[in-house]
Amino acid sequence: PFDVLVVGGGPAGASAAIYAARKGIRTGVVAERFGGQVQDTMAIENFISVKATTGPKLVASLEEHVKEYGVEVITEQRAANLIGAEETDDGYIHVELASGAVLRARSVITSTGARWREMKVPGEQAYRNKGVAYCPHCDGPLFKGKRTAVIGGGNSGIEAAIDLAGIVEHVTVLEFADTLRADQVLIDRANAIANIDIITLAETTRVLGDGDRVTGLEYRDRRSGELHQLAQAGIFVQIGLVPNSEWLNRSKVALSERGEIIVDAHGATSLAGVFAAGDVTTVPYKQIIIAMGEGAKASLGAFDHLIRHPAP
Ligand code: FAD
Repeated sequence: PFDVLVVGGGPAGASAAIYAARKGIRTGVVAERFGGQVQDTMAIENFISVKATTGPKLVASLEEHVKEYGVEVITEQRAANLIGAEETDDGYIHVELASGAVLRARSVITSTGARWREMKVPGEQAYRNKGVAYCPHCDGPLFKGKRTAVIGGGNSGIEAAIDLAGIVEHVTVLEFADTLRADQVLIDRANAIANIDIITLAETTRVLGDGDRVTGLEYRDRRSGELHQLAQAGIFVQIGLVPNSEWLNRSKVALSERGEIIVDAHGATSLAGVFAAGDVTTVPYKQIIIAMGEGAKASLGAFDHLIRHPAP
């Protein structure tokens, strides 16, 4: 069995694994895809101390760093359930994989990340990272001086619009419903900014592009049923971030209303010996540097647990 088993191989998981392995304890990582969301990222300009890099480059260095410490990395395996130590016959925490295999560990760090909710319209996949973006903190500056749209008028959409308005030439917010769902203070702020337009009852139907990059979008006016096209260099999709926590639904790990794993200041979950870090948790602001910090914290939390609880 592992002393620390990390489920998820994104920045949070990689950081947790390195911190654990440096304590000289048996550490494993099980992940569907090493690197997580970072694999899908083209330009990274806010990973402090590295002025600019790409997702695949950062993932390669993460992997190299993890492998430096003899961490057992198991990829292309999906965790399907977790059973707490109190409920297993051998006193170890069990992580059941979709393949049917069971991994046993004295402590588990879950860092299975999240995924952006997609519009699921033609062109979205083809122009992902070519104008279709999901993270204004990350990609906003790439659209400096250009026209951009924000899809979604909830808090994250209106925050994105306010953030982008200071960087880009013009922002158009498209909201499906007849009213914005964001907090009134944010709506008031956005309404007061000259280069933000808000269109309600707008259903985005298509991402338009020239083969290389986004050139605009098409939406249906839900009042009249008419289709309209808007010229845009960028489209920020802000319709929600979904935590990859479904695999814990049958476990006793407490989740928030939004499905995020509830963690305390040490990264501990509601279940003894189970810690969590990164985008899958309730910790706000989903960013690489934050996920790494949280991964380190959860790992130190797990180590504290191990030195207080002897092996079964
Ligand atoms: P993730 O990176 O989501 O990794 C999750 C890991 O868990 C993966 O290995 C996955 O395969 C695995 N996994 C999931 N479910 C299971 C399961 N059931 N069993 C086993 N394994 C599982 N942040 C920045 O700071 N700067 C940027 O420039 C930036 N740009 C971004 C651009 C894009 C397009 C996207 C999508 C995100 C961007 N982000 C950026 C956000 C950043 O990528 C995330 O905050 C960060 O990757 C979160 O790390 P994580 O380790 O918590 O989760």
